[in-house]
Amino acid sequence: MSVAEEIRTTPFAELSLDEKLDRLAEVAVKVGLGLKEGQELIMTAPLDALPLARKIIEQAYKSGAKLVTTFYSDDPSVLARFQYAPDASFDYAPTWLQDAIANGFRSGAARLAIAGANPALLSKQDPAKVARVNVAASKAGKPAMELITRHEINWTIVAAATPEWAKLVFPGEPDETAVAKLWEAIFAASRVSVEDPVAEWRQHGERLKKRVDMLNAKRFSALHFKSADGTTDLKVGLADEHLWAGGGTTAGNGIYCQPNIPTEECFTTPHKDRIDGVVRASKPLSHQGTLIENIAVRFEGGKIVEATATAGEDVLNRLISTDEGARRLGEVALVPHNSPIAQSGILFWNTLFDENAASHIALGQAYSTCIIGGEKMDSAQLASLGANESLIHVDWMIGSAEMDVDGISADGTAEPLMRKGAWV
Ligand code: ZN
Ligand code: ZN
Repeated sequence: MSVAEEIRTTPFAELSLDEKLDRLAEVAVKVGLGLKEGQELIMTAPLDALPLARKIIEQAYKSGAKLVTTFYSDDPSVLARFQYAPDASFDYAPTWLQDAIANGFRSGAARLAIAGANPALLSKQDPAKVARVNVAASKAGKPAMELITRHEINWTIVAAATPEWAKLVFPGEPDETAVAKLWEAIFAASRVSVEDPVAEWRQHGERLKKRVDMLNAKRFSALHFKSADGTTDLKVGLADEHLWAGGGTTAGNGIYCQPNIPTEECFTTPHKDRIDGVVRASKPLSHQGTLIENIAVRFEGGKIVEATATAGEDVLNRLISTDEGARRLGEVALVPHNSPIAQSGILFWNTLFDENAASHIALGQAYSTCIIGGEKMDSAQLASLGANESLIHVDWMIGSAEMDVDGISADGTAEPLMRKGAWV
């Protein structure tokens, strides 16, 4: 029996943390990226995620990676900029670096991001400076981000438990306990704490695909979200030629990948001019190190005309003022309230997890892959079908155990899709 087989027959709970990280790394490389022999990998990771990053690097080379290049970020270094950098720093982003990364993608590299930065890192910083930094970063990152949102390359995101994040998720616990608990929550949500995670992911992908096929066959023209307390009553028109997606995807480079680990959503492109009504967020949103709580928004003709929040309202209003498309929707996603992540009852303060615990909408850029034939269209063609364009793409959670969703056909008939947050 080889060492690998020995590990496989050991129940997950009895593995050491080192072995568990190896299991997550294997899923990230084989399932998340589907990394091909000889392919280059460009990774971004928080410095605190170094143990997982090293496991991923090992797994990537074992899968035949030509070269893994990792860009580490460090929360205290980010804070130092906000505390001491000259004012001109906040409108600057290293275009030279982002262009190099985009060139790497164009010449065949895959992309992996490890999530795990402190979700509240910039909460006490000047919202104007935070907004300026985000706009500069989005502009510089646009060429690389376009290759990702158009799914031209295989890419994935996984998470690592880090101390500051863990303390926010499990307040009052000693640091070490909080980190250990967050790791276990990540392993469970990422479906690696089972005997054969690769097979589990294959089955999970097939289940999501069935749901996606059902939704695509319906050709709904709109979705209607309605919460029991009436704080959400929102009609989301769907883009003409919209395409539902979920689970894995075959990227433009021909490689099958799972762009998010975990993933529980079926998502598509709303029509940028056909959103009307009111909607209240069901979970707080952590956006680029700032926290926005109790978002309530009113849409008219696709556009946000009123936006409030009990915390971070200034950040929210700056966010939706980024550009014309930032006030409009680029994604609508259905996630049942009985998904494993929702059932854990944990508020992760991290969109990768929270968006997979609740139905959600996203402000900003639409995915061209969620339009039939969209990969081959230019932005004017995509816009004519209702696909939104923006520098931002920010998901926020609206689903709950109190949410009903109807699919509306072109002739106006409503069909129940979700009742009390669960699929009908
Ligand atoms: Zn989503
Ligand atoms: Zn999204």
